[in-house]
Amino acid sequence: MLLLDGKLVSQVRREALKPKVAEFMKRTGRKPHLVVVLVGEDPASQVYVRNKIKSCEAVGILSTHKKLPTTATQAELDQVIEELNQDPTVDGILVQLPLPGHLSEIRVNELISADKDVDGFTFQVLGHLWAGSPIVAPCTPKGIMSILEHYQIPVAGKRAVVIGRSNIVGKPMAHLLTMADATVTLCHSKTKNLRDFTSQADIVVVAAGRRHLLGREDFKAGAVIIDVGIHGTGQDQPLVGDVRFHEIEGWASAATPVPGGVGPMTITTLLENTLYLAERKNGLV
Ligand code: NAD
Repeated sequence: MLLLDGKLVSQVRREALKPKVAEFMKRTGRKPHLVVVLVGEDPASQVYVRNKIKSCEAVGILSTHKKLPTTATQAELDQVIEELNQDPTVDGILVQLPLPGHLSEIRVNELISADKDVDGFTFQVLGHLWAGSPIVAPCTPKGIMSILEHYQIPVAGKRAVVIGRSNIVGKPMAHLLTMADATVTLCHSKTKNLRDFTSQADIVVVAAGRRHLLGREDFKAGAVIIDVGIHGTGQDQPLVGDVRFHEIEGWASAATPVPGGVGPMTITTLLENTLYLAERKNGLV
């Protein structure tokens, strides 16, 4: 079985980014600039934001961490976004999710300028993606497409099943696979007889967020299995995915491990999206 090593693909793609970032600096006299907005003190979000900032630095992208207190009002958050939209030194804006309950994610997705939407979650950017003329695509599904591309896994004409219909993973994943000419079925929590679908598929992307949901008997021999799920803290508990990985070794033709599969690709794609939007804003692409 081919191990789809997201860490390796990530390294390769980050190395490839460095000279492009240097070229951007040469042409514009400044670094591409990502601003990450974090509202509140959620510990997991703090870790994600730290990782994003460290990863930016490693490839030469400037990143600013803008902190707002948990008590920030919608009007205050709106104002911060408006200012970042207007700021010519900012190329990318990311508002870390989840937001505290009193703040609206929908509002954020309406407000962030499409030209600076590195996450690919705003309605305008999603509209472009759906219409087949993407500006950028959401990071996790785009990162999965990059893994498939790196390992030259054929997608066109294949039968693909995506499990999960979230706006950030499942739905855009199904769309990207469709754009790559797969025949796609989107399954979700109300799908009856899930195995009837997964066992027919050449490629299965599992993003249900259910620990160890699927095992060997759910897949056909030789399937390509992409596990998006992440469960456990990684400290006292080992990280595991939605798939019982030990069962599919030697059964699948290729699979992503957890950790070290899809996870690293999400941030790598964020870096790629940031550079792309910076280049686009400066007329370089
Ligand atoms: P979500 O909770 O928003 O969506 C889960 C989806 O799975 C829903 O659409 C639901 O209908 C479906 N689902 C739930 N139980 C199911 C079942 N038993 N059978 C079939 N479908 C089922 O989650 P999400 O944000 O899309 O994330 C999914 C998982 O991926 C989570 O474990 C999350 O931590 C992980 N994740 C990882 C990365 C990464 O970078 N590796 C990024 C985003 C999310």
